[in-house]
Amino acid sequence: MGRIYNFSAGPAMLPVEVLQEAADEMLDYRGTGMSVMEMSHRSKAFESIIQEAEADLRELMSIPDNYKVLFLQGGASQQFAAIPMNLMKNKVADYIITGQWAKKAYQEACIYGKANIIASSADKTFSYIPDCSDLPVSSDADYVYICENNTIYGTKYKKLPDTKGKTLVADVSSCFLSEPVDVTRYGVIYGGVQKNIGPAGVVIVIIREDLITEDTLPGTPTMMKYKIHADNASLYNTPPAYGIYICGKVFKWIKNLGGLEAMKVRNEKKAAILYDFLDQSKLFKGTVVKEDRSLMNVPFVTGSEELDAKFIKEAKAAGFENLKGHRTVGGMRASIYNAMPIEGVEKLVEFMKQFEAENTK
Ligand SMILES: *Cc1c(COP(=O)(O)O)cnc(C)c1O
Repeated sequence: MGRIYNFSAGPAMLPVEVLQEAADEMLDYRGTGMSVMEMSHRSKAFESIIQEAEADLRELMSIPDNYKVLFLQGGASQQFAAIPMNLMKNKVADYIITGQWAKKAYQEACIYGKANIIASSADKTFSYIPDCSDLPVSSDADYVYICENNTIYGTKYKKLPDTKGKTLVADVSSCFLSEPVDVTRYGVIYGGVQKNIGPAGVVIVIIREDLITEDTLPGTPTMMKYKIHADNASLYNTPPAYGIYICGKVFKWIKNLGGLEAMKVRNEKKAAILYDFLDQSKLFKGTVVKEDRSLMNVPFVTGSEELDAKFIKEAKAAGFENLKGHRTVGGMRASIYNAMPIEGVEKLVEFMKQFEAENTK
């Protein structure tokens, strides 16, 4: 059996070239006589793996020198707590709720201080991004928090909120490296890598240096302190070494394709194939307002739960895996991250056309 087109929201597809290289180096990493999985994180070989990964990521995202790059564990979800623990000096933070991940981050912040919801799109099941041009930002807010691409609902901020001078913190788990980004607009950019970069087990935190202080909330565990990880270059304890190694390979893969500008062109082209079809389909319909559509996660429905189920089943049989929508929203969702080849989306649309012809009169 060959490889199928995997439309999973995460863990998701990785570039075949990366998997092949990792396979080639599995038993003997470049003459070390061992796998990266078996090697000390203090070894010369691993030191160059993590340093090169960081250098490549800095180059890809043009990360300024006054930002640290941390390779951590605990997933994006652990950052929901780490962010307030490290940044809530006044114990106040403003949250924009555009879906479940933003809501979870907000709920976690409520444990540590006063978290305010300053905008939300809950009224229309998160099918749009609220107007963030004039938000009631709290004067004493330590930061304003967003989830930049909403994996479950398929929306993306096309314009960052006006935080009125407050630090912007963004969860970019599902849009990491999908297009160019101006890092200077953010205080913290972070994301789990299992959506668009690498294997589960690594979370990358890009944080402006002045936000890294000893002054964390009382009771903050050592492992949750950004300063500990920054001072130790992500090697305070054993890092998720193999995951970092794969991330490094994906950074090189993106560099070879032309960097984030090229990723954006590629991703826009891919997403357009699917959205253009949805916009004229008599059966399938996108669920998100056009202006706020994600390039990465594309939810759609037929309007009938039975037909949705039939479609998912037949798609799976035809080699299109994981098209079922999130368990909380139903319908379908195609996640088309960086590693999804354009042919995957073209073939999916062909299949959808055929299904539509067979199931409409
Ligand atoms: C998947 C996801 C998360 C949760 O990530 P974990 O690594 O499983 O904790 C958080 N935020 C967004 C936007 C996600 O897509």
